[in-house]
Amino acid sequence: MNDFPVPPIGVFGGTFDPVHYGHLRIAEEIAELAGLKEMRFVPAGIPRLRRGPEASLEHRVEMVRLAIEGNSRFILDEREVIRGGVSYSVDTLRELRQELGKDAVLCLVTGADAFIRLAKWHRWRELFDLCHFIIAARPGHLLSTEGRASPGALPQELEAECRDRWTSSAESLKYASGGLIFTAQTTLLDISATAVRARVALGKSVRYLVPEDTRDYIAANDLYREQR
Ligand code: ATP
Ligand code: MG
Repeated sequence: MNDFPVPPIGVFGGTFDPVHYGHLRIAEEIAELAGLKEMRFVPAGIPRLRRGPEASLEHRVEMVRLAIEGNSRFILDEREVIRGGVSYSVDTLRELRQELGKDAVLCLVTGADAFIRLAKWHRWRELFDLCHFIIAARPGHLLSTEGRASPGALPQELEAECRDRWTSSAESLKYASGGLIFTAQTTLLDISATAVRARVALGKSVRYLVPEDTRDYIAANDLYREQR
């Protein structure tokens, strides 16, 4: 417990294949409502829980770099791609905790769809000792009402682990280094990287789903043209 408020640091992991306005907008809203000092975008190396990303690691990183340029709170954190191999959030959070010290307030940001699957993550329970969770609303994945899990929204073992961790106050996150769960009522944007890739593969427009720089980058590098 901290006696005084510490500005939290957001940790936003993803495959970002490619980064899109759903990611960017929730990151902006969460940074604002939680008073984040910074939001670290952490592109995954090889994620364990899905089939391989379609763009190379270098391309995914570069698209994030371009997309967050100019937002002074947004930072690219390349530790997972540098580490190589399969990415585990628990290793990333452990490293950050070591670098930033025991009083740092770390908030792992996930969409509701990702959080629902948390109990499948490697050593997931340890994450609550390392960080808070901030969960962004995602269309089609109702998770909570009034700052608690809706009945039946979470698998039983996750629900049990979460039971005493919910907070409806973003401010309270600043007084503990981890262990709480906050659901952020961010703007619902039904954008997914899967749908972006599918549109590109069909030669359809992705304008206004992704930043212009991302769209240019996809075209210039001929990404997602073939479904592999
Ligand atoms: P894919 O369709 O390839 O899985 P994605 O759009 O889900 O891509 P990811 O890189 O998998 O993007 O997501 C990274 C994180 O961002 C996850 O925690 C995910 O839940 C969250 N996220 C992605 N898009 C949205 C969105 N539109 N609204 C809320 N959260 C989102
Ligand atoms: Mg996803």
